[in-house]
Amino acid sequence: MNITQVASHTHEGVYRVEAAEFGLVGFIAIHSTALGPAAGGLRMKPYGSEDEALTDTLRLSEGMTYKNAAAGLPLGGGKSVIMGDPATLKTPELLRAFGKAVEACEGRYWTAEDMGMTPADMAEVAKESRYVAGLADGKFASGDPSPITARGIFNAIRQVSAHALGDASLNGRVISVQGLGHVGWNLCHRLKAAGAELIVTDIDPDRVQAAVASLGATPVSLDEIYAVEADIFAPCAIGGILNANTIPMLKVKAVAGGANNQLATPQDAELLHGRGILYAPDYVANGGGIINAATEILGIENQVDWVDEKLRALDRTMGDILTSAKEANVSPAVVAQDVVTRSMTPRAA
Ligand code: NAD
Repeated sequence: MNITQVASHTHEGVYRVEAAEFGLVGFIAIHSTALGPAAGGLRMKPYGSEDEALTDTLRLSEGMTYKNAAAGLPLGGGKSVIMGDPATLKTPELLRAFGKAVEACEGRYWTAEDMGMTPADMAEVAKESRYVAGLADGKFASGDPSPITARGIFNAIRQVSAHALGDASLNGRVISVQGLGHVGWNLCHRLKAAGAELIVTDIDPDRVQAAVASLGATPVSLDEIYAVEADIFAPCAIGGILNANTIPMLKVKAVAGGANNQLATPQDAELLHGRGILYAPDYVANGGGIINAATEILGIENQVDWVDEKLRALDRTMGDILTSAKEANVSPAVVAQDVVTRSMTPRAA
């Protein structure tokens, strides 16, 4: 296994990992350890090129810095990727080789499950590294973060409802949800229980059918989700979906969802603001998952109470961001960036 350092002006450490005998090529990016060890998931997916994979790792690891800071965690930002189709290329040997690379970072980077990984895969990585969170077993195991992520997003939706619609109650509100996976599905159940009406889409027709059957949701096509009349849009699938094409179509008062990197560019926050659509910054709204994983990284004994308290603090942070944004008449994305930048006092020079 070869680990080579990649030069970077923006990140503290960027590493290319290769183990040709197992078909492994991947990257680990440590964006910042100003607040603590860098933490962020391991993603496996087919990339068109190494450049594309590296760019994704750099972008995602920077996002983790902001997410961890916004969640008030003593953690910095990092991320890792393995190139290739998990369905065909993922083997225990490849995962263990990657685990050795994580271990070689000596605790400056903690990994966890992300796209293309399962708890069983992370257990394989953990055979070679102590710095793995989101495991199903173990003293501080934190398991699937999605239910806690969904709780945080539900809180964010109530916050934008209060700010944009004058009432935090979701009873009778119409919420459009893109993506009915781990997070979206759990969120839909919470929204339904709060009395909301759901409009849903997913590339998987079975998930849509299940939401129609069990939640009385209204199904729409993948493109229609941007143009439906609703109170709040909750993107819970992929990134980059708030862009120059989709924002003019939106007929909602607010956007609050779980997907990472929802804005295609920072200017898209201004587009939303210009249209009077309140945007809950994604890395604040979806911080529940890393709060859950942090219990494992930090070895928290009383996980339930600790997570509850951190989620309440995250909710207050979101409320403060939305209030400040309204007062200053700027996008909440701008305020959120200020908040996390201010909170990142370096531990050491
Ligand atoms: P998931 O893979 O379980 O679910 C994603 C769902 O979106 C799937 O049902 C998929 O079919 C659907 N989908 C994919 N592309 C789509 C498209 N173009 N249109 C409509 N539906 C589409 O993933 P998840 O764990 O639910 O995560 C969802 C999003 O939230 C991701 O962006 C993820 O990075 C982010 N997120 C997840 C967590 C967590 O705890 N799982 C935490 C923070 C952020």
